[in-house]
Amino acid sequence: MSATQETLVIIGSGPAAWTAAVYASRANLDPIVYEGEISREMVPGGQLMFTTDIENFPGFPEALGGTDLMERMKQQAERFGTRVVSENIDSVDFAQYPFVLKASGGATLTARAVIVATGARANWLGLSSEERLARTGGGVSSCAVCDGALPSFRNQRLVVVGGGDSAMEEALYLTKFASEVVIVHRREEFRASKVMADRVLRDPKIRVEWNSHVVDVHGDDFITGVELEDTNTRERRTLACGGMFVAIGHTPNTRFLNGQLALHDNGYIVTPDSWRTNTSVEGVFAAGDVMDSYYRQAVTAAGTGCMAALEAERWLAHHEEHAATATESAVA
Ligand code: NAP
Repeated sequence: MSATQETLVIIGSGPAAWTAAVYASRANLDPIVYEGEISREMVPGGQLMFTTDIENFPGFPEALGGTDLMERMKQQAERFGTRVVSENIDSVDFAQYPFVLKASGGATLTARAVIVATGARANWLGLSSEERLARTGGGVSSCAVCDGALPSFRNQRLVVVGGGDSAMEEALYLTKFASEVVIVHRREEFRASKVMADRVLRDPKIRVEWNSHVVDVHGDDFITGVELEDTNTRERRTLACGGMFVAIGHTPNTRFLNGQLALHDNGYIVTPDSWRTNTSVEGVFAAGDVMDSYYRQAVTAAGTGCMAALEAERWLAHHEEHAATATESAVA
């Protein structure tokens, strides 16, 4: 089967991908976005699809939902001619040029430039009981916004694991449904921003189990409680609950790259030049959470998406001019 030839392929569907698509389509690069398939852990739109109220994206004085923001960004990209395919890119070959990409629907395509904006996905504690109950809809989740409103969680004591902004956000969201929210955190202070932590600590429906680890999840078909271990004394105790939401950070979605781009030890893509989005392969750019383990904000992701599109545009112009000159010299 022959490959479809593309100029610029953008992989991902969060703020980085859509911003890159807006810039690239306005620059007549005719980009195609592979926004990904819907699965249990991934939905097109990325992490913001799980965020209820975004209060810190400039230009929206009233909070807006993550789904709304992503839908608006997608529409904006489509308005300028961006084509969107709801498939994953399963593998890439960056050793060839044009680059070769294989899509989950079976198509092979070539691209003269690629922007990787595949984001990051939720981490789990790694307990077999957690995995079993999460897989079977047994009251264990990594997304309060997706699952919190389910009837089974109403008027229950719900546990949130983690101490970062995500855990704060999940806990606050769950107070709408729960009788009580208990945050289980492994240290004695939160990693979360002060404003979020203060909001949580002021909330009468939320309490915190400090210096505690979840070491087991009880329940056959549905969670009935968690086994906590004190990180100092190693003492164990059971906390009865009707749901557990794990919010302990994220892992960048880079597996499909199969080692073809340089990655940091934590798995994020290396962009070797500061304030640039170029990667270890010329013509391949990275934007958003997949290359940013530090800021990880919608607005910074959008900013790097813009940078990646501008860099791809300049790189393509330069590269093609160079290739044309080389051909002319060879003919002469
Ligand atoms: P994070 O900041 O990396 O926090 C992860 C939390 O999980 C930490 O408290 C960590 O504990 C804990 N943790 C990690 N592994 C664990 C394990 N195996 N067992 C128990 N606890 C574990 O991740 P995040 O909360 O997802 O936030 C990611 C980024 O997104 C941050 O930059 C954050 O500011 C941003 N964010 C912003 C907003 C907002 O502005 N509204 C909302 C969500 C996220 P330690 O503290 O002990 O390491």
